[in-house]
Amino acid sequence: MFSHEQVVVRRGPESGLPIVVAVHSTAAGQAIGGCRMAVYPDWRDGLDDAIRLSAAMTDKCALAGLPNGGGKTVIAVPPGFTGDREPALRDAGVVIDELNGAYATGPDVGTGPDDMMTIGTRTRWVFCRPVEAGGSGDSSPATAAGTVAALRALCEVRFGSGDLSRRSFAVLGLGRVGGTVATLLAEAGARLVVADVDESRRALAEAIGARWVSPDDCRTAAVDVLVPAAMGGLLTPASVAALRCRAVAGPANNQLDAPGTAELLHRRGILWAPDPVVSAGGIIHATGVELRQLSEEAAMAEVAAIGDTLAAAETRVSPATIARDRAEAARGQVPTAQGQVSEG
Ligand code: NAD
Repeated sequence: MFSHEQVVVRRGPESGLPIVVAVHSTAAGQAIGGCRMAVYPDWRDGLDDAIRLSAAMTDKCALAGLPNGGGKTVIAVPPGFTGDREPALRDAGVVIDELNGAYATGPDVGTGPDDMMTIGTRTRWVFCRPVEAGGSGDSSPATAAGTVAALRALCEVRFGSGDLSRRSFAVLGLGRVGGTVATLLAEAGARLVVADVDESRRALAEAIGARWVSPDDCRTAAVDVLVPAAMGGLLTPASVAALRCRAVAGPANNQLDAPGTAELLHRRGILWAPDPVVSAGGIIHATGVELRQLSEEAAMAEVAAIGDTLAAAETRVSPATIARDRAEAARGQVPTAQGQVSEG
């Protein structure tokens, strides 16, 4: 079923690259979701990503109680592309601006706060510009803080204590979010196994006293909690069968290959915290500071409350089922005046 309000696909006039902007829902307020700039063998894979990720953003906003719906931008970069990135970002800004505020973008994989300045030359519907330019800046520290709050809650439910120093974690992906999560876990005294396809991240592993292993060994490590912090689609029937952890929670978006895989985890006795809940820290912080005029402290308090959202895992129902039901219930919200990005 096609449930999106609109999906725009445009060949960027400046860059020549395919620009996809998907608006899944504005029922609860302005659609929000980041701009992904990634290499796709076929631009249609980027279209699929935009469609899937924008729908997931609607769930994420609903679960976080935000007065917003879901959207996503994908700039589909062909393999071997060596051109300049700025024309493509400006092209994305033009398409976003034509939606007249139905959707506002922010950073995602492949883009950061500086890129929001470039998009912002064509539209005002942009979050997370650098702090010195009046935005809320890089969202990854808040996403990492929310992930650690989720991990404490998960450990409380699964192991009877939120004391992270008593637990072992396998962090897959030591990028902006995963690197900070691993550092915070190390500071809390946790035992850590880590991996990244980028060998340069090994230096961080050494700095925080984590054991560096291959991505395959990280996925199947015999630890208390696996923390997916790289790309989506990690949890499939085959990969779930190979897991040796007792719980899974991390910031990576769209971890399940299909909704039914959550029940496979549940049946194996592996507690999975749904990624739309775990990874919402960045969007909670950005919308709190930029839309609802919260102080930094108040916004971070809302991020920490992600742990409470996960308390539902204490019931016998799988957290995935609870998250889905809540998201569906919350989608019935009416638009509010708060759900609009402010003029920048
Ligand atoms: P990032 O690009 O900074 O980091 C991703 C890391 O994963 C990189 O270091 C990369 O080398 C590594 N990686 C890629 N494929 C891998 C693989 N197969 N095995 C091991 N490592 C691999 O991205 P990020 O901002 O840290 O985001 C990480 C995940 O969290 C993404 O799924 C993203 O969508 C999600 N997320 C991020 C934010 C945010 O605020 N940045 C918010 C919500 C969700």
